[in-house]
Amino acid sequence: MPGFEVFGEEERKAINDLFDANGGILFAHGFDSIRKGIYRVREFEASVSQKFQVPYAQAVSSGSAALRVALAALNVGPGDEVIIPAFTYIATAEAVLQAGADLVIVDIDESFNMDPNAFGSAISPQTKAVIPVHMMGAPAEMDRIMEIAQASNVSVVEDAAQGVGGKFKGQSLGTIGDLGCFSFDAGKVIITGEGGMVVTSDQSFYEKARSFHDHGHKYLSSVPRGLDDAVSVGFNYRMMELQGAIGIVQLSKLDFIISSQRKNKAKLKSKLVENNFPFKFRKIHDQNELGDALIFMLENREQALKFLDCMKREGLATKNIPDAMRWHFAKHWKHLYANSKHYKDSYQNQWQRSADILESSIAIPIMIRMSDEDIEGTALKLLKISKEVM
Ligand SMILES: *Cc1c(COP(=O)(O)O)cnc(C)c1O
Repeated sequence: MPGFEVFGEEERKAINDLFDANGGILFAHGFDSIRKGIYRVREFEASVSQKFQVPYAQAVSSGSAALRVALAALNVGPGDEVIIPAFTYIATAEAVLQAGADLVIVDIDESFNMDPNAFGSAISPQTKAVIPVHMMGAPAEMDRIMEIAQASNVSVVEDAAQGVGGKFKGQSLGTIGDLGCFSFDAGKVIITGEGGMVVTSDQSFYEKARSFHDHGHKYLSSVPRGLDDAVSVGFNYRMMELQGAIGIVQLSKLDFIISSQRKNKAKLKSKLVENNFPFKFRKIHDQNELGDALIFMLENREQALKFLDCMKREGLATKNIPDAMRWHFAKHWKHLYANSKHYKDSYQNQWQRSADILESSIAIPIMIRMSDEDIEGTALKLLKISKEVM
């Protein structure tokens, strides 16, 4: 997934250009008479909108901010319930709490994404929105999720923080639901250091998102910013020009990033399959995944722990599963449930199916730059370990 692997001269040049061309105006708004027509955040928004074929894009300061802003666009607030999967980055849950809404957390299936049936069963009269998350580069089952959501009048916010550039049945991740959220933090597919984007096809959602991310500004085009009107309470979730400038360059590298990862993943996976690797791989709903991780499921937790011990010995790394479960699996988020309507006293007994899947699985990171020898070496080590633990 890491855009940092291709971070280089082009990004440096984009930053220098910003200083050379307009003297380093870093604010995305105003300064119209001295910035010489340079608006990098706006350009980045336009590039994202074009690249993913979605009419509206609002840049924000992070992926977490994108989620918060998307929920604000839907008027999610106290008394509403928002459904999220048990396996995601904790920001998805935090955004719901920041909106003042109640968390409802449902199991994943062997795609490591939200189980559509679990989502359907969790809908209540209070359910306002669902946030399917495209974890580790592969899409949630969006057709079924959309169908269930629409039947119950539930809004859909896609958390595509880890899915930038992926597709489900031909549609770019993030553009299928009512709103979609991207992250460009330092570990994501493309990076701006910190940064995010909200995308939507709905003009009124866009206008609410734009306003909420910037202190409620109405964005009247007829007056200077200082005389602008306010439409609602908002906050500062703005992106700045440096991030916009870097984002434009990173976006131009996205196709290369994805095709390299897919190629490397395919090589590693086929090497394992050809040699009868005995474990099941993650179920992938659409081949247009990003290919930034290879996940396999062992028979049980004990076997997974044994496998991990051997990986350590062989110098092999994992990616989030299991090394960062603390931040990715709802079972470990006790601190979020102090005032929780549903989990205050019962979180320990929840999400057993997700635990069974996650705690017996291992994710291997796939990088943009992996030599054939790296891939071959990793495959041989994994095959050797698989024989040891059987
Ligand atoms: C990274 C991430 C976020 C938050 O993005 P930031 O830019 O780090 O705030 C939200 N959801 C998921 C699934 C993520 O991986």
